[in-house]
Amino acid sequence: MSEKLALVTGASRGIGKACALELAKAGYDIIVNYAGNAEAAEKTVQEIKALGVDAAAYKFDVSNKEEVDKSVAEIIEKYGRIDVLVNNAGITRDGLFMRMSAENWNAVINTNLSSAFFVSQPVVKVMMKQRNGAIVNMASVVGVSGNAGQANYSAAKAGLIGLTKTLAKELGSRGIRVNAVAPGFINTDMTKDLDTSKFTDFIPLKRLGEPEDIAKAVKFLAVDADYVTGQVLEVDGGLII
Ligand code: NAP
Repeated sequence: MSEKLALVTGASRGIGKACALELAKAGYDIIVNYAGNAEAAEKTVQEIKALGVDAAAYKFDVSNKEEVDKSVAEIIEKYGRIDVLVNNAGITRDGLFMRMSAENWNAVINTNLSSAFFVSQPVVKVMMKQRNGAIVNMASVVGVSGNAGQANYSAAKAGLIGLTKTLAKELGSRGIRVNAVAPGFINTDMTKDLDTSKFTDFIPLKRLGEPEDIAKAVKFLAVDADYVTGQVLEVDGGLII
């Protein structure tokens, strides 16, 4: 076991998995959180272990405060510390505002925004004791620019940016840095049903991003950026310049 531990929510697939692997390469033991896809989570754990650090999968629903509290308490009891938290788990339930159900509004706000409140609170408690820690929240460019058909998702991601800046101000004196990454269009299960060919025309770098593009930015903010806090790093190929 190494002496540094990172908790990555939604790390069974996509961007979260890439972040977990990148932090593992930087020498962190990794807690792989997931919602239901145990097979994918276990595969991520094996890939992390192959890099020479420890990893374990923890199934909990980040939108459920009781489940979060129980699991984070177990993690802290077992490992004694959490050095990096990546609040990455997220979902979409797209639809035009006037047709959006309260159910789809609440599902996205709870999973993409309230989750960061639920997970960060007990993690910050242990980071405060350590007087050290870094949090990276997975926002989105649509949290900056808005997006037709994504009122719930854009509001959640904009909320995450507000939370990021506020926590940076509250926790800086405790040695805890809090930043956000705002990805553009990234090749994952979340975007697999979109006709992405029409987007690349609008992206100056003329391609979609890969999960690894985001993971490098997360690792920079979590590990290397000692004097950076409260920032939102857009990683979008130039989409919203
Ligand atoms: P993805 O491929 O759909 O993966 C989602 C991950 O989140 C999976 O690991 C899933 O676990 C987990 N998850 C979902 N709901 C959860 C819950 N309630 N509790 C715990 N884990 C949960 O998504 P992605 O594209 O990698 O997106 C990751 C993050 O990046 C999200 O916050 C998303 O909003 C953000 N983002 C993505 C893009 C993009 O273009 N892809 C752009 C901007 C921002 P299971 O495998 O168990 O289901």
